[in-house]
Amino acid sequence: MEASLGIQMDEPMAFSPQRDRFQAEGSSKKNEQNFKLAGVKKDIEKLYEAVPQLSNVFKIKDKIGEGTFSSVYLATAQLQVGPEEKIALKHLIPTSHPIRIAAELQCLTVAGGQDNVMGVKYCFRKNDHVVIAMPYLEHESFLDILNSLSFQEVREYMFNLFKALKRIHQFGIVHRDVKPSNFLYNRRLKKYALVDFGLAQGTHDTKIELLKFVQSEAQQERCSQNKSHIITGNKIPLSGPVPKELDQQSTTKASVKRPYTNAQIQIKQGKDGKLMKQSKTVDVLSRKLATKKKAISTKVMNSGVMRKTASSCPASLTCDCYATDKVCSICLSRRQQVAPRAGTPGFRAPEVLTKCPNQTTAIDMWSAGVIFLSLLSGRYPFYKASDDLTALAQIMTIRGSRETIQAAKTFGKSILCSKEVPAQDLRKLCERLRGMDSNTPKLTSEVQGHASHQPAISEKTDHKASHLIQTPPGQYSGNSLKKGDSNSCEHCFDEYNTNLEGWNEVPDEAYDLLDKLLDLNPASRITAEEALWHPFFKDMSL
Ligand code: ADP
Ligand code: MG
Repeated sequence: MEASLGIQMDEPMAFSPQRDRFQAEGSSKKNEQNFKLAGVKKDIEKLYEAVPQLSNVFKIKDKIGEGTFSSVYLATAQLQVGPEEKIALKHLIPTSHPIRIAAELQCLTVAGGQDNVMGVKYCFRKNDHVVIAMPYLEHESFLDILNSLSFQEVREYMFNLFKALKRIHQFGIVHRDVKPSNFLYNRRLKKYALVDFGLAQGTHDTKIELLKFVQSEAQQERCSQNKSHIITGNKIPLSGPVPKELDQQSTTKASVKRPYTNAQIQIKQGKDGKLMKQSKTVDVLSRKLATKKKAISTKVMNSGVMRKTASSCPASLTCDCYATDKVCSICLSRRQQVAPRAGTPGFRAPEVLTKCPNQTTAIDMWSAGVIFLSLLSGRYPFYKASDDLTALAQIMTIRGSRETIQAAKTFGKSILCSKEVPAQDLRKLCERLRGMDSNTPKLTSEVQGHASHQPAISEKTDHKASHLIQTPPGQYSGNSLKKGDSNSCEHCFDEYNTNLEGWNEVPDEAYDLLDKLLDLNPASRITAEEALWHPFFKDMSL
């Protein structure tokens, strides 16, 4: 402190504190960058060590993605005569189940390589380290470009997403984690690629053989509940450090959850004495939305069995929490219903959130609908929820509570909701969030969604969407044209001016398609093939 003051003595007094601060900030940023670079260098060295054969083929340049389940690197390779090729190397966490890894690879090899589905070039393995080598697609950060996309670009983006979904659904693959970071987009080249089959599951008639052997989270839980033997590969540990808290927009994958399926999550009381924590061992869940003003409390049950089905408590016992926001001890002793649930909370379909055991490719269409909602409203993430019931309540604020309850009945779920909330008009909602004034249908670049980084619906705000959409957008964060991202398209930088083209006359077809994607009933939800034929894409060809 003293030293720094001493250095500043010669400088004009009025400027010194500020300059001091800038210098300090600048140097701390540099330190941070150096620290990061050193970390990446170390990781690259470790990868070469773990899979030495990589060094014969690749020059690993950078780390471009790090999740809970893999790290992705950019590498170059001299694969054939000609220029160096850019390759993405996905290093899967060594604790991944061997069948999971093989199934991910099979999705890429069988369904990938065309129609905007990522393909695979090679796969390397040494012991429990597996590296998948894929063609590298330079891509944008969704949040960075969200508010500079022209309406036509949004149409093209969605069209190409449906093309990819049609392809994988034809193979009986349910992706289960459709979200912008898994759909790579190169704006300049108009190239798209659906990646990350780490969570994929097969339909009953899947053409991906290995998906038939992939255990769903549900099956795994059933196994652990029955204390049956779990197949594990060589050197695949069944225990390990508890993974760090997952980011709200990050994925929950069954393979990582597996070792912890026996874990008991205690039911805790919140500060207000009413807030019930979700428990892995209850089948009746109750959760008050963590809002300042209590908005909606929801509860999901299996239709018609809420008073009967009990595994460890006598069937004759009648529960006393029906239609309340509490979970009684009788319900707590019931066996939890298990159903596939992996994915990212904000993108989960209602049937996933309510643990419907029969889930289909329709869940990917819902997620595509949430992406479309972000594109039309200029808000990402659109929903930000830390648990399934909060996510369900957030869906209700857009699609209506009565409608959600009604739809859930069709797939055997009974939802209790303390408050009735109406469905929103999708056009009005998106236009408000985008900063369109309904009286003067014009976007101003000042207002136009530069609060895009703020979720449209979060747990911190009142869940009444009508209140939410009046929240003025925040200040332009100035990071929408971020240049530093190693995997973003640097040369596209200058072209990214806010493009208002087409936004003042969004056709009804757009909201009709959105409505059909966000159909609460999976049985009637639009399919990828139908979406491609929707009038919204009338002049586009496959
Ligand atoms: P995870 O299972 O960890 O989410 P992903 O397969 O989704 O792994 O990859 C993580 C990130 O790595 C992606 O969001 C993307 O930014 C980058 N990435 C993955 N595959 C490629 C690729 N083929 N080309 C360019 N970047 C890629
Ligand atoms: Mg991913």
